[in-house]
Amino acid sequence: MTKQCVYCSSGEGLTKDHIISKCLIPEDFPKINLNTVSSCSVCNNSFSKDEEYFRSFLVQASTENSTLARDMLYSKIRRSIKRNPYFGKMLLENMEEVLVETSSGLLIPRTKVTILKEHWDRHFHVLDKFIKGLTYNEFNYLIDDPNLEIRHLYIKNKLNDDFINNVSKWVNHINGIHYYGVIEHQGKALWIQVFYDTVVFVSIVHDKLVIKEIEEKFKERA
Ligand SMILES: [Zn+2]
Repeated sequence: MTKQCVYCSSGEGLTKDHIISKCLIPEDFPKINLNTVSSCSVCNNSFSKDEEYFRSFLVQASTENSTLARDMLYSKIRRSIKRNPYFGKMLLENMEEVLVETSSGLLIPRTKVTILKEHWDRHFHVLDKFIKGLTYNEFNYLIDDPNLEIRHLYIKNKLNDDFINNVSKWVNHINGIHYYGVIEHQGKALWIQVFYDTVVFVSIVHDKLVIKEIEEKFKERA
């Protein structure tokens, strides 16, 4: 365990945090040991609401494909809605079809999805957390260089096979719920995460300037 929070590098009020939120796992799922990292209590407390929104997004996109996602819908999510009817109302009211756009205005080509409106910031907050936690877990270092940025792309289409073949390491992290692949070189990395065998995010950790270039390329293709 680090003596620093893997998310913000603070050394104060450290607790243990599950890298991949427990809330993504159905209750009757076989018991597994989830990896944990050091997190300050401020970061730790900041995630749970956003993780619930992120879970709703993942599950609504995956129910056709994944029995585990359906289990989630009929257990944990149903209970959240029962406990808090406004949560359910909010989910319904916020559905709309949008062109996928990141917080910096990056459009992903040919991706139109039904999604909870305006919640990309919250999803990216959770994805930042996952990438920082996984980075520490895999490579034993913190992403705390101010020149680095993390950018997430939501991939609606099937991933290109060349791209998949380039990834030398795939990890079936939580069976049927989360697996990932990573290409890493000297602190720069490209991650692919798949949730409920359906939802794919590519996350790039790189110098700010390079991230900008990648964004420009995507904009041209959009
Ligand atoms: Zn922190």
